[in-house]
Amino acid sequence: MAKGIWVYIEQSNMKIRKASLEIMSKAREVADQAGEEVVAVLIGQGVEALANTVIPYGANKVIVVDDAQLVNYTTGSYTSVLNKLIRDHEPKALLLGHSALGRDLAPRLAQRLGVGMVEDCTAMEYDPTTLLTFNHSIYTGRAFAQVKVITTPIIATIRPNSFAVSEPDATRQAEVIKESAQIDADDLRAIVKDIVIASSKRPDLVEANVIVAGGRGAKNVEGFTLLEELADVVGGAVGASRAAVDAGWIDIKYQIGQTGNTVAPTLYIACGISGAIQHLAGMNSSQVIVAINKDPEANIFKAADYGIVGDMFQVVPLLNEEFKKI
Ligand code: FAD
Repeated sequence: MAKGIWVYIEQSNMKIRKASLEIMSKAREVADQAGEEVVAVLIGQGVEALANTVIPYGANKVIVVDDAQLVNYTTGSYTSVLNKLIRDHEPKALLLGHSALGRDLAPRLAQRLGVGMVEDCTAMEYDPTTLLTFNHSIYTGRAFAQVKVITTPIIATIRPNSFAVSEPDATRQAEVIKESAQIDADDLRAIVKDIVIASSKRPDLVEANVIVAGGRGAKNVEGFTLLEELADVVGGAVGASRAAVDAGWIDIKYQIGQTGNTVAPTLYIACGISGAIQHLAGMNSSQVIVAINKDPEANIFKAADYGIVGDMFQVVPLLNEEFKKI
């Protein structure tokens, strides 16, 4: 009989992603209501060492698949391993972050298992009939659909920053189950030979508490240098609209929106961004939105908590000076 809520624990350079701890924390809350257990799933090389980091956030069990073949993520190898684990243990649900990895792995796995899935959820609650219900944004963020998955296991990806990370309980004990990596030869179609990590002293865009984002109004690469200065003063990350990315002023990995990253920082400062629906879809869950735009009719002001009508080339340096005083 199916049992347990599984949380896929994503790590990068042996650091657990905040989004995974957010999901663990919420899964614990729901599992308590449902009388279920929470199982953290760690896959990779050397990941066994991370089990003790994750247990305090609410795991009853940790399943570890630690194998040199899994040192780098590939869709095929990780799908193979998770598919076997799920068939052997029969969990009721598997939750993943809505990250690049989660977006890739979850649908592949759902297809392999022949089950339904829901992606980019911003809320999750206990449901006595289906175990879980999710809120999932539709029409590029204009509305939310409440979704229930009626196949087992329920597979869902959760938008980062949707839930708070609970206080870790260092006294929590959990069983650590080590499983061997069983990878079908057919699944090994691609091999990652090397990963080059771009070094940046700024926080990861998706996990950042503060984001300074620029759009077409930033005008050029120098405009983004101004925004980088502000980001550094406030300890934030730099993001961009698609118009700025398409113009070649900033790399596509910094794009925010429907076809870019989804972010929900505490503070989002939008500079020279009009507020197209496709951009709002990626940032409208931010706690406080500040917009700087010279057009008082710009749509971004409808989404903003604070608006500054003005030229960003005058306003941003002033903000910079003020923040430096704090
Ligand atoms: P604009 O709309 O041109 O706005 C520039 C703003 O800057 C204006 O409001 C102007 O008043 C202001 N401005 C100009 N100069 C200054 C100044 N000196 N100081 C202050 N303000 C100034 N867009 C995304 O961002 N992310 C996505 O993921 C995305 N996905 C898309 C997917 C699809 C399928 C489609 C069709 C579109 C998508 N877009 C996306 C594009 C989106 O529709 C908009 O075209 C884009 O967001 C506009 O970017 P922008 O606000 O920077 O530029």
